Amino acid sequence: ESPIINEEKCIGCVKCVKVCPADAIFMYFTEEEQKILAELEKAGAEPEVEELSDEDKAIAEMLRQYNGVWVFVEQTEGEVAEVSWELLGEGRKLADKLKTELCAVVIGEGVEGLCKESFIYGADKVYTIDEPVFKYYRTQAYHEAMCGLVEKYKPEIILMGATGMGRDLAGAVATEVATGLTADCTGLDIDDKGNLMQTRPAFGGNIMATIMCDKHRPQMSTVRPHVMDMPERQEGKSGELIRETSSVKEEDIFSKVLEIIKDKGHSNEEDIAGAEIIVSGGRGMMNSDNFKILQELADAIGGTVGASRSAVDAGWKPHSRQVGQTGKTVRPKLYIACGISGAIQHLVGMQDSDVVIAINRDKEAPIFEVATYGIVGDLFEIVPALTKILVQMKS
Ligand code: FAD
Repeated sequence: ESPIINEEKCIGCVKCVKVCPADAIFMYFTEEEQKILAELEKAGAEPEVEELSDEDKAIAEMLRQYNGVWVFVEQTEGEVAEVSWELLGEGRKLADKLKTELCAVVIGEGVEGLCKESFIYGADKVYTIDEPVFKYYRTQAYHEAMCGLVEKYKPEIILMGATGMGRDLAGAVATEVATGLTADCTGLDIDDKGNLMQTRPAFGGNIMATIMCDKHRPQMSTVRPHVMDMPERQEGKSGELIRETSSVKEEDIFSKVLEIIKDKGHSNEEDIAGAEIIVSGGRGMMNSDNFKILQELADAIGGTVGASRSAVDAGWKPHSRQVGQTGKTVRPKLYIACGISGAIQHLVGMQDSDVVIAINRDKEAPIFEVATYGIVGDLFEIVPALTKILVQMKS
């Protein structure tokens, strides 16, 4: 069905042409219109400048006050969540496009070393608050500290990891400073007006939506671990360190950390999000016992076993092994998908793997669209045969 164009409103700005995800719209000018455009061009006519309303002027003035791209450097007991460095890498690209500075925000106790690391991962400037009250993450304390910094220095963009801490803090800060927040972004870019374009799956992952926050500042996004590339370390790089103090007092914080009990139950289990080789199984595995053949293949190549949501929902694998939109985002060197159809919600979690091998008996399965190598056939024949050859090659 053709789109309906409201000719009274259409000003020929071609925005719809640029954003159409299916490249289905193009701008057509009649001969008469083409003549007018050619004449205007010949006469060097300036395009008509729209008069800004008072509200638009006030917004433009407010936007001008906000500058710089900030990345919240998340740490737990001095250990940084790697997603923070990935975000510094992405933040660098955004800051360069905006011709502004890239800043890291490091809050905690005894975090001087992390400030230095932030420069090495690309920050031009680091804002730090180093006080005992921030030893452990607590929403109230970190939220007050972060909002204080935002109010004082007015960043135009704030990026945080879509981790437990990042999701919690970003939501609290966005609410307090009355701005928008886009969670779980899979792509970030800058538009021609200097606004942040935040892309993420929407409507159950069936479309990719680009979300803008063009009338409020700061623009806030969270991004899951492993979605963005890890930047190169720039050894010896330094920058401006701004030490801040906060007005947060221990006695005002409602929650107290009495003891930290590490989850021993999963301590031996490898986190698939950081694995370099993943052999994943889907509904095509038929039952949980059949996953043994995937484990054997994974053992032969030093990998770990993942699963699609169907396999997890069926109880064949725990949720910690699920790859995809509601599972983990992975970026291994090698991803082997066995009996997985390749629904969009699965693809968003693994499509950035370096090499994808798909084994599926349906040659039309969408997984083949993202596969580097596709094997059409029965996985129960192919997987054991592959393992056998690999084991023979090793011995
Ligand atoms: P199916 O789609 O049933 O595919 C099974 C495949 O196995 C088929 O292609 C079939 O040809 C093949 N097969 C069967 N037998 C064999 C054989 N012997 N040899 C070779 N091939 C064989 N899904 C996720 O994976 N991760 C998520 O995080 C996720 N989040 C979601 C979030 C939302 C909001 C929604 C709505 C859905 C989500 N899903 C997620 C579910 C997703 O839409 C799919 O339903 C799911 O990924 C399908 O899993 P599957 O590929 O294992 O199963």
